[in-house]
Amino acid sequence: MRPLAGKVALVIGGTRGIGAAISRRMARDGAAVAVVYRSRSVEAECLAGVLREQASDVLMIQVDVGDVHALDRAIDDVVRHFGRIDVLVNVAGIAITGPLDDYADDAFDRVFALNVRAPFRAAQKAAAVMPHGGRIITIGSIVADRMPGAGGTLYAASKAALGGMTRGLARDLGARGITANLVQPGPIDTERNPADGPNADLNRAPLAIPRHGSPVEVASLVAYLASADAGFVTGATYDIDGGWGA
Ligand code: NDP
Repeated sequence: MRPLAGKVALVIGGTRGIGAAISRRMARDGAAVAVVYRSRSVEAECLAGVLREQASDVLMIQVDVGDVHALDRAIDDVVRHFGRIDVLVNVAGIAITGPLDDYADDAFDRVFALNVRAPFRAAQKAAAVMPHGGRIITIGSIVADRMPGAGGTLYAASKAALGGMTRGLARDLGARGITANLVQPGPIDTERNPADGPNADLNRAPLAIPRHGSPVEVASLVAYLASADAGFVTGATYDIDGGWGA
């Protein structure tokens, strides 16, 4: 089964961690894949090799999507190369955390530029060329709804904005047969939040399933939302958090 055969998927922040698992899953499901990353070219090239084993076409783009003009150019490149975008997955995000008094003056702008403006702008640009059946999927965080402790105000605020954005997109695009959904992971075992890291026990404490999730598990949910099976699912928020809120 190649449910995304003939489709083009764009994964922004797709070369490491959760994003890399999503890129691999899009390729496995038959999509041609465009992958945006910021700087780590070795990992990007390595992933590109893996993707080319399954995807009909692969385009890797190095750009900082916190820069809105650079993001625009990247999406233009994808459209020029593939002629279309069927699935957009917004993954890239930044967490600047710490005591309230310690945030640098530019912290708000940096966090919101990457975590909110980039997914919004990418959705706006991609939707302009998306055909009927298009999919917009954004990776938020469970901290949008539940804070485990102090120090995450800015990150949580930015991730909370994505719920409103997603519901707005669902309304804007539903009549065109395009869906928009939000995936909110709990602790997922990646370089930024390793299952054996210093905060791991604290992260797992509130969970019903007391382990970190895997990037592949998040990618499975994204694959469902990207598929034709999810055609009547829009404006929804899916928590994938080991039962944090149970
Ligand atoms: P990272 O946040 O480390 O993301 C890595 C990917 O995003 C890489 O491909 C990286 O490129 C790319 N990226 C980062 N910044 C930019 C940028 N400015 N422009 C373009 N690409 C960029 O990995 P995770 O998998 O841990 O997190 C992915 C998403 O999931 C984030 O939005 C995060 O907030 C969210 N999340 C993660 C959780 C977790 O426990 N891991 C829990 C809840 C939510 P490069 O390799 O070149 O740097």
